[in-house]
Amino acid sequence: MNVYVAPAEMRTAVLSARTGNRTVGFVPTMGALHAGHLSLVDAARAECDVVAASIFVNPTQFAPHEDLDAYPRPLERDLQLLQEHGCDLVFTPSAEMMYPAGAETSIDVGAVALPWEGAERPTHFAGVATVVMKLFQIAPATHAYFGHKDYQQTLVVRRMVADLNVPIEIRVCPIVRDDNGLALSSRNAYLSPDERQQALALSQALRLAEQAHASGQRSAAALRQIIRDHLAAAGLSPDYVAIVADGTVQEVEHIGGPVVAALAVRVGQTRLIDNCRIG
Ligand code: AMP
Repeated sequence: MNVYVAPAEMRTAVLSARTGNRTVGFVPTMGALHAGHLSLVDAARAECDVVAASIFVNPTQFAPHEDLDAYPRPLERDLQLLQEHGCDLVFTPSAEMMYPAGAETSIDVGAVALPWEGAERPTHFAGVATVVMKLFQIAPATHAYFGHKDYQQTLVVRRMVADLNVPIEIRVCPIVRDDNGLALSSRNAYLSPDERQQALALSQALRLAEQAHASGQRSAAALRQIIRDHLAAAGLSPDYVAIVADGTVQEVEHIGGPVVAALAVRVGQTRLIDNCRIG
């Protein structure tokens, strides 16, 4: 496994990996890797000839009051895990390399970035879109892998790739959870044992909504209420609970097709997101 810190060296390595029509699967991450990230690496390994990943805690997607400085950065362990999962190329730049003095360009993907996460974190998706576009230039792979865990982010990336004619196939992989249902997240490391217990209410609430739908409930308002009630019983009040048409950020009222139930909840100081496809 080769590790690069300079963008030009990573680009040369990815371009040379693509010779002879070979496919390169790219997995962008912020590190502190867990089985969710590694499932993306495994998916890339299964589908592509060469696997590339990046580890970069992107400052532009954090607001000033958020957890940029506290974000875990266990680089040696991450590199070991990537190696064990058959990754070939890793890009680990510094913030100065990604954003040299004078950098100003930012990508605004429009309406898909505005509600839900975008409303709670108004500068977040411009930071995500910009860094993902930069990473796609530095690592010009044939395929890129993202997790459904960050549902709205996958829509932002798909919109950007379509609108800017980026020649890359976007793959979205299922959410990996622990045995109790908690969606794996690097931010789970912030949770105290009590908070970790409380956080189980997120996936439980989504499961209750799924069960209500399976029993015939087709009112999105009713599903939102089931989710809110379960969170409230655990002492949690969500930033939002959304029932949107699958593949969009558009809220639905009557559920006539597949939807995604998505929520964001602060557990103590830690902001967690989760979602599930229903129907
Ligand atoms: P992050 O390091 O949080 O930026 O995440 C990097 C990628 O891993 C993103 O595409 C995430 O959606 C994905 N990811 C994070 N957590 C999970 C999970 N529990 N299951 C599947 N993918 C995940």
